[in-house]
Amino acid sequence: MYTDLLFYIDGAWTLGEADRTAAVVNPATGEEIGRLPLASRKDLDSALAAAERGFAIWSATSAYDRSAILRRAAALVRERHEHMARCMTLDQGKPLGESTLEAKSAADHIEWYAEEGRRAYGRIVPSRNPAVRQLVVREPVGPVAAFTPWNFPINQAVRKIAGALAAGCSLIIKAPEEAPGSVIELVRCFHDAGVPAGVLNLVFGIPEEVSDYLIRSPIIRKVSFTGSTAVGRKLGALAAEHLKLTTMELGGHAPFIVCADADVEAAAALACTLKFRNAGQVCASPSRFYIHDTVFDAFSRRFAELAGQLKVGDGFAADSQMGPLANARRVKAVEELLADASAAGARVLCGGQRIGDKGNFFAPTVLVDTPAEARLLHEEPFGPVAPLLRFHDLDAVIRDANSLDYGLAAFAFTASLKTATELGNRLQSGMVSINHFGLALPETPFGGIKASGHGSEGGSEGLEAYLTTKFISQVGC
Ligand code: NAD
Repeated sequence: MYTDLLFYIDGAWTLGEADRTAAVVNPATGEEIGRLPLASRKDLDSALAAAERGFAIWSATSAYDRSAILRRAAALVRERHEHMARCMTLDQGKPLGESTLEAKSAADHIEWYAEEGRRAYGRIVPSRNPAVRQLVVREPVGPVAAFTPWNFPINQAVRKIAGALAAGCSLIIKAPEEAPGSVIELVRCFHDAGVPAGVLNLVFGIPEEVSDYLIRSPIIRKVSFTGSTAVGRKLGALAAEHLKLTTMELGGHAPFIVCADADVEAAAALACTLKFRNAGQVCASPSRFYIHDTVFDAFSRRFAELAGQLKVGDGFAADSQMGPLANARRVKAVEELLADASAAGARVLCGGQRIGDKGNFFAPTVLVDTPAEARLLHEEPFGPVAPLLRFHDLDAVIRDANSLDYGLAAFAFTASLKTATELGNRLQSGMVSINHFGLALPETPFGGIKASGHGSEGGSEGLEAYLTTKFISQVGC
């Protein structure tokens, strides 16, 4: 049911030197389900050499031919998505329905980039001298080092792989050691689709060892990281020292604003879906719920009712709506944030504790009366905890929403076009979604500002991220 845990280097599946391994654990049971090889320097050297050769081949392949191979990979993902989803539920824990949607949507992402890669247009700039032709061309930046996290193992990986490959770059991806299975199966689709050896390479390892070694390598020209702000700062500093381009998709602390004129029932239902999806381990997850005073009681009652009804259990159980947290670190982190909030005066409306002592299950938790100084309102919770806060006036709530250093996603509910426009304009966030959830599509940009990072994945911006500009000024021969 699971998969062989291997690296993919230079077109071959390998254990590498296999001098170190790490356990992969099912977060629903705590049982070991496999041992993952961790890359040595020699393994990383092999991946770097392969990526250098792969770049020479792939950047010389026409966008048309690259597109055809990417489309084959998308078709294979569609064929195999059920197995990929099972691998993800087994090592990451999310309900099989969520894994299935994530696996299926990978095909959409690949197809989008397969098409967009054929539109990396340059331009001709009129010259001052009629004998001179001035061309602006877009070229792939070079071999890329990508680092992806465990919360959306396929989604985080496919956006980097498909974007880089569509642009003509080669890639070494270090995928999450704690949830490797579905990424291995994703990479297998690219291999079976005919991506040439060396173009795509997959490794696992000790994260800081791998990133330090790859980012310093002169072969790597671009770094794309998704993960915490703290790690993003470190990798960004190292990349800057070596003058490497970066895309940084970091943490968030999204405000969810419900105005007095909002459809409270719809807002509570969406808030519940968004907050507890993937057990709250989502960078764009709402983390601060600002509810207008006049609808606070109605919203909080309905939201806590819906949260309390969620069925928490093993992701393979047909009725599970929320799985375990992906690792034991998250349980500890969520417990600490809750203890701090409770000590400061927050009241628990529902949940508030872990469930059972096997696996990393935690009850969907709703809090009220959380004081402004509580860590929960400043630090990314990355777990199933929803603090509900009251507001009276739009200016004040916009100021509060913008008060953190994060700026990834923001959500709002209102029946007024004027208020919606104002919120869209004034919220300091890379993405704003009003009266629905409209983020993370292949054709739209996904990314943050401020401490949430820079650069976008998805949309034409996602291709731009892997291109450089060359100016050619030429007098005819
Ligand atoms: P962490 O900060 O140690 O790791 C986050 C991710 O970065 C992991 O996938 C990890 O393998 C990777 N990583 C860590 N150090 C690295 C390094 N030096 N080089 C390359 N990769 C490195 O924390 P964690 O306990 O795994 O996750 C918790 C926090 O991470 C959360 O609170 C959340 O803020 C953040 N996170 C964000 C996202 C996202 O989608 N933006 C995803 C997962 C985790």
